[in-house]
Amino acid sequence: MKFIDMHCDTLMPFVRGGDYNLFSNNGQVDFQKMKKGDALAQFFAVFFPKMEMFAKQGIEMNDELYFKLLTEGFYRDIEKHSDIIAFAGNAADIEKNAKDGKMSAVLTIEDGRFINGDMNKIKEVYDKGVRAISLTWNYENCFGWPNSLDKEIMNKGLKEFGIEAIQYMNDLGIIIDVSHLSDGGFYDVAKYTKKPFVATHSNARAASPHQRNLTDDMIKVLAEKGGVTGLNFAPQFMDLDVNATHTPVSNIIRNAKHIVNVGGIDVLGLGTDFDGIGGTQEISDSSMLPQLWDAFAKAGFHESEIEKIAYGNVMRVIKESMK
Ligand SMILES: [Zn+2]
Repeated sequence: MKFIDMHCDTLMPFVRGGDYNLFSNNGQVDFQKMKKGDALAQFFAVFFPKMEMFAKQGIEMNDELYFKLLTEGFYRDIEKHSDIIAFAGNAADIEKNAKDGKMSAVLTIEDGRFINGDMNKIKEVYDKGVRAISLTWNYENCFGWPNSLDKEIMNKGLKEFGIEAIQYMNDLGIIIDVSHLSDGGFYDVAKYTKKPFVATHSNARAASPHQRNLTDDMIKVLAEKGGVTGLNFAPQFMDLDVNATHTPVSNIIRNAKHIVNVGGIDVLGLGTDFDGIGGTQEISDSSMLPQLWDAFAKAGFHESEIEKIAYGNVMRVIKESMK
């Protein structure tokens, strides 16, 4: 079974340089593991952590340099292994790559802070290949506010810039990602977007009570808008206990069933968050995803339903929202 994974943090170690590469590494995603797992496409996020984190390690870093290092690594390794993988900026690219026997690599940004309130910057990152942006990470930025246990923050909607920016992203063909966004921001995206949007890596709050996950109403709204949410394998977002440290396959199936029951079969996708999550996972890297599809079959999902979850639904959104 082919798959499209909407989120991983596999690019981050490029910040340190050395011999780190995307073909073969010790993490949860690399080209070899993807191939073994039968990847159709992998979204690679440039996730922006606090830069102080690097200062503490004696690495002088800023957002511009960070973006440059990670995207250079991304393109260098794709180029180096062009026999098995190629960049994809839209659905036609993914289809062409597949026809050529190649997997696809999609570039995304996690934390719109890099946009810095500048509409030109959105065009600039589009020109550099970015095709999805998580509007926020865990802090306020030019788009809006993050998900939070503080009700006041959680209810805050998009900022004026955020509303304008998502309409520009619609026009350009950059997918809007609401994972990490406040609930109020989610509803503003649903209100103002002209195109289907996604939660690249979020589960169901009713099945796993973490605030990073979507409420049942949000899942319904997302489905109505033609969007998809990607199953995130982080233990604390998958379990009934937000302090859990392991994700058994049964938890993935439990969340998946809930999301499908609430929003229908067309709203579910994959967003592992590999290389960005703590704890341990029964499906511990992308080479093991075939085991997940087996588990879905054992849980009563039909082949055509598993196909939608594994890549079909995300492919539909890519066709409608990415260009
Ligand atoms: Zn994330």
